[in-house]
Amino acid sequence: QSTKPLLEVRGVSASYGAIQALSGVSLAVPEGAIVALLGSNGAGKSSTLNVISHLINPTAGEVHFAGEAIHRLPSDEIVRRGLVQVPEGREVFKDMSVRENLELGAFLRRDRAAMADDLDKVFTLFPRLKERAEQRAATLSGGEQQMLAIGRALMSRPRLIMFDEPSMGLSPLLVEQIFEAIQRLNREQGLTILLVEQDVRLALTVASHAYILENGEISLQGASAQLMNDPAVRRAYLGV
Ligand code: ATP
Repeated sequence: QSTKPLLEVRGVSASYGAIQALSGVSLAVPEGAIVALLGSNGAGKSSTLNVISHLINPTAGEVHFAGEAIHRLPSDEIVRRGLVQVPEGREVFKDMSVRENLELGAFLRRDRAAMADDLDKVFTLFPRLKERAEQRAATLSGGEQQMLAIGRALMSRPRLIMFDEPSMGLSPLLVEQIFEAIQRLNREQGLTILLVEQDVRLALTVASHAYILENGEISLQGASAQLMNDPAVRRAYLGV
């Protein structure tokens, strides 16, 4: 059914010991869309992604992907089904080469030919990675490591990618390149995207719809154009 969202989070709560990080968070990501999840430091954005990837357990609620409940599945099974996360802080394997890092992204797959094909696609998207294919990942710049983390996620052939603050710590030019790549993946390969971002203005320009998290709850949601003009959003997040 085409009207059903590809990803649906229903009433999810989560806590770390005594700290309640999420309370009844619901959101939906339609197939083919770019949806943004916004909010200030500690609002619960990463926790939401970590529940979806099942890196942490929800205390309540459900997560559905492609029409099936996934909140009880192991994380690697979730990746296998086509839902993958590019973590904040990138977490590439520093002692391995760029190529080895990328190959690792395909570890759940067996088809060598398709893998070579995907490697080419990643190198086309990020020519820098091709130039540095045999170099140790530790020697890459921050922006290049971000490209590598995205490339590695792409190697699992996802249907939906979740990005956790891809702009963090990057120069304006690199941010532009990364966001251009994200938009191309959506436009040209039909990849569905859930984007966590602190740069609200940037996120609202690429996403069609956005959710705003405050203290672990969704305080506001809507079409990006509408949020861009919302006085409360402008005051709190756009500095106008
Ligand atoms: P940021 O933009 O700073 O990354 P965020 O919106 O992603 O923030 P989360 O990282 O999801 O926020 O954190 C939500 C809340 O849960 C915060 O109060 C945070 O301190 C707390 N928290 C997150 N991880 C842990 C943990 N491992 N142990 C204890 N508390 C945690």
